[in-house]
Amino acid sequence: MRLRREGRSLSRRDAAGLSQRERETLAAFARALLPRTQALPPAEQVGGVAVVKAAELLLAQAPSRTRALLRLTLRVLERMPFPRRFSRLPEERAAALLAAMASSRFAFRRDMLLALKTLAYVVYTRDARVQATVGVRLTCVRDVMAATAAAPQMEPLAEPLRREQLSPANGSVRCDVVVVGSGAGGASAARVLAERGLDVVVLERGPFHNAADYSTDPVAALGSLYREAGMTFCEGRPAIPLPVGRCVGGTTVINSGTCLRPPGAVMTRWRERHGIEWAPDLDAEFAAVERALGVSPVDPLRCGRNAALCRVGAEALGWRNGPLRRNAPGVTCCSSCPTGCAIDAKLAMHVSELPRAVAASARLCAETNVERVLVERGRAVGVSGRGFEIRADAVVLAAGALGTPELLLAQGLLGGSRAVGRNLRVHPVSWVGAYFEQPVRGWEGVMQSWSVDAFSDRRLFLEATATPVAFSSAHVGGVGAELQARIARYEHLAVIGVHLSERASGRVTLDRRGRLRIHHHLSANDAQTLRFGIARAAEIHVAAGAREVYPQLAHLGALSGDELDRIERTRVRPAQLRLEAFHPMGTARMDADARHGVVAASGEAHDLPGLYVADSSIFPTSPGVNPMLTVMVCARRVAAQLATRLS
Ligand SMILES: Cc1cc2nc3c(=O)[nH]c(=O)nc-3n(C[C@H](O)[C@H](O)[C@H](O)COP(=O)(O)OP(=O)(O)OC[C@H]3O[C@@H](n4cnc5c(N)ncnc54)[C@H](O)[C@@H]3O)c2cc1C
Repeated sequence: MRLRREGRSLSRRDAAGLSQRERETLAAFARALLPRTQALPPAEQVGGVAVVKAAELLLAQAPSRTRALLRLTLRVLERMPFPRRFSRLPEERAAALLAAMASSRFAFRRDMLLALKTLAYVVYTRDARVQATVGVRLTCVRDVMAATAAAPQMEPLAEPLRREQLSPANGSVRCDVVVVGSGAGGASAARVLAERGLDVVVLERGPFHNAADYSTDPVAALGSLYREAGMTFCEGRPAIPLPVGRCVGGTTVINSGTCLRPPGAVMTRWRERHGIEWAPDLDAEFAAVERALGVSPVDPLRCGRNAALCRVGAEALGWRNGPLRRNAPGVTCCSSCPTGCAIDAKLAMHVSELPRAVAASARLCAETNVERVLVERGRAVGVSGRGFEIRADAVVLAAGALGTPELLLAQGLLGGSRAVGRNLRVHPVSWVGAYFEQPVRGWEGVMQSWSVDAFSDRRLFLEATATPVAFSSAHVGGVGAELQARIARYEHLAVIGVHLSERASGRVTLDRRGRLRIHHHLSANDAQTLRFGIARAAEIHVAAGAREVYPQLAHLGALSGDELDRIERTRVRPAQLRLEAFHPMGTARMDADARHGVVAASGEAHDLPGLYVADSSIFPTSPGVNPMLTVMVCARRVAAQLATRLS
């Protein structure tokens, strides 16, 4: 009852910051979570790291629902040691309570802890003293000779974008095609359309940033480059954080640069089951995109120890493995991907396809939020937002798998197919960390570098990924002194991401106030498959010499090499997995049959002539690998068909 009452009062006040009581609870939480140790300063103590202030800055940019939930979490935590209050407990008692929450059999207690830990952790680990102890240097290094050798056929880049070219749209404008969104899909479509001689306007709701002004402070970077400061998440069992980009270049600005082609069987299935005739014939298109982005394998000799250990382990076990292919030719050291590539060596859209589109006369407007698709006489004829209206012969939605259904649902468009927002896939990933005796220093190599693709028949792909410390709260386990000891030894941590092409699908909806909600429940079968993948990643670590492994399963802590069978022996329910996801897709799916899809194989909406979709929403199924390259290729195909129709 009390919870429900508190929830109601929160939703009325959730636009405000934290109350004084909530601040005190968060401060007490941070003190218990991150105490003083020999190596590290304490949180929220004199001379320590101020967590609450910066956390409030982040929270102010979070979706109102997330903010309300976090505030509710703080209130519940405050009352948990009833009749006492959490903020008044002695530090050891507070730490003991957090430890009990970490191993609780109740999922909501573990979720509460993880949500607050993630918030406090990202703020704490950005502190210069913490970074100095860890030894991290967020940077990116490119070897120019290696770049030339790695991508001999790379297409030359166009003149870089200049901020003054990207003013927000205003007034009434007329063009041939208006493209909404400037990420992988929007940039690729815009380039093809502009190069075919069409007058193209690209509208992007986020700001323009590049290497001249990215912030290495994760709190500032989350605020400037991510939708809702990176705090977008799927509700469900388990809750899954799902960050996406919101800037010129979209999610490609903050992604890890891995560029893989999907297996041929996936594309054949898209033709056979979804009537997309062109899907299996995209080899030339993939090759063109790879040339455009300088895609090449990371150098096995210079990709760093996180990759090397993954390779050693996989080879010892006889599992197929190899270097990942990326759009960052010649990069030998990189750790800044999630906050924008420090030297823009990663050829994200704002560095590659958007300048090429602009060179072909496309106009690009930043900080321009599209609110409506204009529909006249049953046809899409343009888009509008605050202070502008763009009329066009065709509208291409490329606002991503969250933004595209958000726009359509807000207007009740394409309701006929009833597929808008459904069929959401996210590729849930479990980060399996391991501590090694010798330093790993993942940031001295390539962040996402090595893959083990021996388990694709089980819908799993494993990728060695050295996440920057600020974004590692999910896989650096423990609380209190134990957590601090792990942060201090962060340079000894190796990480493998276990990605799943899940069977279960989720859904994007809008609540009564028009706010985006994302629902995703993992199936029991998906949970078992992830457990299998986690066990394999743990084996790779141990085969490479790891001392301890951290499977992200609620009831298992650190395991030694002799204890790995505990992962296999456990029956894992979805709520016991700690997951993240980065690949939303499928929410406006393509299918030749109007009863099953939102758009036809041409990319045009079944229910609304003149409206096209060209982003990750159109995937009828998961591509089975990281999706960016497939998004680009599909967007190019949609754009090429549209250009032919319009000319
Ligand atoms: C941390 C992270 C790492 C990743 N790493 C990889 C990787 O290594 N390899 C890989 O293949 N994939 C990776 N991905 C996923 C990949 O980047 C995406 O799948 C891809 O960018 C999706 O392209 P898109 O065009 O559908 O959407 P996006 O690239 O997200 O672009 C959509 C754009 O539309 C804009 N927009 C939304 N609504 C509106 C509106 N109403 N008006 C105007 N503009 C709007 C958004 O601001 C955004 O810029 C990663 C993702 C993340 C989050």
